[in-house]
Amino acid sequence: MKHVVILGAGFAGLELATRLSETLVDEVHTTLIDQNDSFSFGFSKLDVLFGRKSASDILLHYDDISREGIEFRRERVTAIDPESRHVTTDGGSYDADILVVALGADYDRAATPGFAEGGIEYYSVAGAERMRDVLADFDSGTILIGILGHPYKCPPAPFEGALLLHDHFVERGIRDAVEIRVAGPMAAPVPITQEVSQSILDALTERGIEYMPNQQLAALDTEANEVQLASGGSIPYDLFVGIPVHRAPEVVERAGLAVNGWVPVEKTNLATRFPDVYAVGDLTALPMAKAGVFAEAGARVVADDITARLYGEQLERPYEGAGTCYLEFGDGMVGMVEANFFGGPKPTARLVGPSRELAADKVEFASTRRERWFGS
Ligand SMILES: Cc1cc2nc3c(=O)[nH]c(=O)nc-3n(C[C@H](O)[C@H](O)[C@H](O)COP(=O)(O)OP(=O)(O)OC[C@H]3O[C@@H](n4cnc5c(N)ncnc54)[C@H](O)[C@@H]3O)c2cc1C
Repeated sequence: MKHVVILGAGFAGLELATRLSETLVDEVHTTLIDQNDSFSFGFSKLDVLFGRKSASDILLHYDDISREGIEFRRERVTAIDPESRHVTTDGGSYDADILVVALGADYDRAATPGFAEGGIEYYSVAGAERMRDVLADFDSGTILIGILGHPYKCPPAPFEGALLLHDHFVERGIRDAVEIRVAGPMAAPVPITQEVSQSILDALTERGIEYMPNQQLAALDTEANEVQLASGGSIPYDLFVGIPVHRAPEVVERAGLAVNGWVPVEKTNLATRFPDVYAVGDLTALPMAKAGVFAEAGARVVADDITARLYGEQLERPYEGAGTCYLEFGDGMVGMVEANFFGGPKPTARLVGPSRELAADKVEFASTRRERWFGS
């Protein structure tokens, strides 16, 4: 029996463990390790932020995983030796025949001076709860959503935040008293696709939300309430909402797995340069968007590659970096972006909707995975 150790029980780790349990339960024993006791979908942070759900509503507890062949350990990974596939945690140590690193991307709040003290965010559950409370007391002034680095998770999420903020203030009858702006380093909201970018820009314009492209936000001056730009200028705000700088987890960097900040992998099967070590999800250096659907698709390819190798076969379907993301336009309307990064000569993405039917599809997307991964 082979021992597969999966580090990180997010989109990638959960899908991989499930797939191995489905297809290789007699050949593989899986240890799945995560520092947290629960998972939440990235987009459910928007539900918390706008009071549609509480934090406890969105948490899916790892204790509920009941699939055969999966052993969940709530431990923090403290060291990884990719040469020997030896992993140390705060609760023990593990030797893997096959090691899969799926630890996602961390937020580097300290990379932007002033942000930790003077800004808020909705990219974590705790941050979304805090911002929900701050918003309740915000009656007038300028909200600046600042994208502090690139790449970051879920490229449309800052714009979804802006569109939903518009709804929030319309509902409170004070939209005219609030200015909403988004600033970031990209030339367009979703750089791989002009069509999707234009739809987002149109939606922002219709609601009187300004997008300021090509801005490198360097630091917050929390006395003056302005963001200092790398170019020398500044943007004023009353409330600063930051999309934090993202980085591979520190334990991954220390392991020597990362190069220039992210983990290089074979595009076809997500193998690292270390034998029997894969990396999948947000921490890879692949030139593509960081999103759960791509992490999940990558996990399926890793499972297929492990299966093929166990049976002395070749991987049949290489990784395409394909997936379908939902995008909230506000007022109950949801669009769907179908993207494929590596399946053709160049990346493609197209927008379906927005519509109210897709809002129902999005709910279905989450419940299918909840059932599949947690059996509930
Ligand atoms: C506001 C928002 C909206 C989003 N919307 C969407 C969307 O609509 N569609 C979509 O596809 N994606 C969306 N995303 C992005 C999505 O959540 C991520 O891209 C996805 O979770 C990445 O999956 P992953 O498995 O690579 O990493 P993660 O899901 O982040 O999982 C990594 C896991 O590793 C664990 N971990 C990290 N370090 C350690 C350690 N040292 N020891 C033990 N465990 C550790 C973490 O606890 C975590 O559970 C959104 C994200 C945000 C923030």
